[in-house]
Amino acid sequence: MKWEDNVRKVVPYVAGEQPNKQNMIKLNTNECPYPPAPGVEKLLEALNCNALRLYPDSNTTLLTEALADYYNVKKEQVFVGVGSDDVLAMAFMTFFNGKDPILFPDVTYSFYDVWADLYRIPYRTCALDENWHIRPEDYKQPNGGIIFPNPNAPTGLLESLRVVEEIVKANPHVVVIVDEAYIDFGGTSALPLLEKYENLLVVQTFSKSRSMAGLRIGFCIGNEKLIRYLNDVKFSFNSYTMNMPSQVLGVEAVRNDAYFKETTQKIINTREWVKKELAKLGFTFPDSMANFIFASHRSVPAKEIFRALRDQDIYVRYWDKPRIDNCLRITIGTDEQMKVLIDFLRQYLSDK
Ligand SMILES: *Cc1c(COP(=O)(O)O)cnc(C)c1O
Repeated sequence: MKWEDNVRKVVPYVAGEQPNKQNMIKLNTNECPYPPAPGVEKLLEALNCNALRLYPDSNTTLLTEALADYYNVKKEQVFVGVGSDDVLAMAFMTFFNGKDPILFPDVTYSFYDVWADLYRIPYRTCALDENWHIRPEDYKQPNGGIIFPNPNAPTGLLESLRVVEEIVKANPHVVVIVDEAYIDFGGTSALPLLEKYENLLVVQTFSKSRSMAGLRIGFCIGNEKLIRYLNDVKFSFNSYTMNMPSQVLGVEAVRNDAYFKETTQKIINTREWVKKELAKLGFTFPDSMANFIFASHRSVPAKEIFRALRDQDIYVRYWDKPRIDNCLRITIGTDEQMKVLIDFLRQYLSDK
């Protein structure tokens, strides 16, 4: 027997690359191209270093209350984590403990199978239909829990609240997690369903629509009992996960609703314009309701376009994986950035 026999061996999640070049156009990890709310910068400058001497509030009270207030739920219904990846990791550990496999789409956020493997949770993937939509019937088989993003990633497709409800309603014996990382770009949140279903957990993040990927703030909303179970696990793991500056700056971001609405609307407008331009260039894509577009070209392989863009310091996301190896996931940046991208693609494709 070797010491290595008792090591928990895992295949980790592979994040998009994080290049840091001066004039790059970074459209590969769905960040927001606009800065956080203006008050956040002011507060950051005012943050007194002495405050870092003390432990942060392990209950993230102010941020939890600000979110409860904003989403019109009780503070006992809100759980805050260090990015929604942290929230999701805690939720997998807390809620997915059955013998039956958990279910999620075959094309989806590639962290779900990583957590399932890490925690040794059995899982089964359900194939999206030929138009990349979730088939609700697939989620009516015996299972130990369900998770899917809405809109889905990397397709960008939004499922209607009717489809979400159908899945939640058909599975009262397990927890159904709806990962709403991209819901603020024109989707309808499942939050109103919380009044009817106690097995629903809605997860959101500050990383995409609130321009704060670097701070790491995520949260989920569910009924009080679910949230209590989550907190019990979190406090059995590490109490002081979220640092004090994140808590303070997060509250400020939630307060500035006008700025939030303005920047998300800008992204939506840019997205709709980019869809038209990409279509003119011979790309096809599902009709995204997220801050990215999942596009394939009718004649040029995605891998080639990916490399050509990269040579220009324009970064988009490409996966060399079955089923999606001819697709590029292009994050929506500013109008100026997208114009550079479209102009390059027009030239590049006409030279082909
Ligand atoms: C980006 C993303 C997350 C994680 O975001 P955090 O930065 O950890 O909040 C979770 N789920 C999906 C579907 C995502 O795209």
